[in-house]
Amino acid sequence: MTKPATNPSSKLPADDTPEGFANDVSTKAVHAGEARQKPGNSITDPIFCASTYTFEDTQSIIDFIEQKQQREEYGRYGNPGERVVEQKLAALEGGEDAVLYSSGMAALVGLLMSKLSACDEVIFFDECYHRSREFCTKHMSRFGVVTRQVRACDYDAMEAAITPHTRMLISESPTNPHLSCVDLEQFADIGRRHGVETLIDATLATPYNLRPINAGVDYVLHSATKYLGGHNDLLAGVVVGTKENMESVRNLRGIMGAVNGPQNVYLLSRGLKTFELRMQRHNENGLRVAQFLENHPRVEQVYYPGLDSHPHHQIAKQTMRGYGGLVTFLVKDADWRATANVVDAVKIPRIAPSLGGVESLIEQPLVMSYYECTPEQRSEYGIYDNMIRLSCGIENPDDLIADLSQALELS
Ligand SMILES: *Cc1c(COP(=O)(O)O)cnc(C)c1O
Repeated sequence: MTKPATNPSSKLPADDTPEGFANDVSTKAVHAGEARQKPGNSITDPIFCASTYTFEDTQSIIDFIEQKQQREEYGRYGNPGERVVEQKLAALEGGEDAVLYSSGMAALVGLLMSKLSACDEVIFFDECYHRSREFCTKHMSRFGVVTRQVRACDYDAMEAAITPHTRMLISESPTNPHLSCVDLEQFADIGRRHGVETLIDATLATPYNLRPINAGVDYVLHSATKYLGGHNDLLAGVVVGTKENMESVRNLRGIMGAVNGPQNVYLLSRGLKTFELRMQRHNENGLRVAQFLENHPRVEQVYYPGLDSHPHHQIAKQTMRGYGGLVTFLVKDADWRATANVVDAVKIPRIAPSLGGVESLIEQPLVMSYYECTPEQRSEYGIYDNMIRLSCGIENPDDLIADLSQALELS
């Protein structure tokens, strides 16, 4: 199933696909991790609604414990459907092993809890998801872990913040909502030179658009709630890394218990079947909508890494296959209310937090996520009153553009 990275006969637009991208994404998304012949001869994986698994006799328990038998034992340690999805996600990401969690945040908590101890330090790029940083600054701190934050994509500042206690460098790429793109090779290189592990939350990019493990990053994390599940109908998270690195992560998950129910795992597996097709449409819609907005007289600025005007366009172009469905923009000369009027005037995108699903979602970060912050905090985070974040779904791009056009004229 693994083919050379660049296949000239591929129908992908090879002209602008950077090196290192597999063109068998759909083959893996549909088949990886699955047995060819399944129980009941079913084409789909059955949902095993089991909290526990039975043993034939005492000897089979002993055989299992002595690792002579590969099998399930108890639901908190694994489920057959979950193992299929984990292998699918590891294959898509180009990693050895994947551990699935009940949400993206559970994945982050699980990874950091298994890797960090008192007096250890982590360094974040400051545009990371606010809950991720909050977990470190408010909670890991209670266990003696020190969090340092440096400006996003300031590699010198990140390197300068490393001390003998530093254990992990953490960033998202692209970041939310500014869509800053990390130079992953440079990021991984800083970690390697200092013997510090690196983590990229690539939720906004997905393995279709970005290859952090190829670039030398140690751990890739996704909120599978977003593009991987893709249908706004489930929560899940995943961490991918080497078998060796993931062993302690998997062991702690068995103790934490942040696991998915079997039905939820099936939804994720089903959502993944169309992963590549959805990403192609998300990429197309994101780019088309960003280009439309950039040329609209009522738009002051568009944040989208696929646009020449984005400060990280060059690194994005060199390292990403596409730029995803998330587009952030500022409405020209608008206060928060006039901006809210644009959000309220759209007819297709639904007003909601989250991103990456088939339905387009729109929100004003000021109201949705930063309402309780002071104006000083918001300006520190780069959240402006006239900012709108749009997650383009897989609707027809012309319909989305026509809808945005009428909303910008009406409001
Ligand atoms: C949504 C999100 C998370 C958290 O994931 P949940 O599944 O909601 O717990 C983490 N990182 C990023 C970049 C996200 O967008």
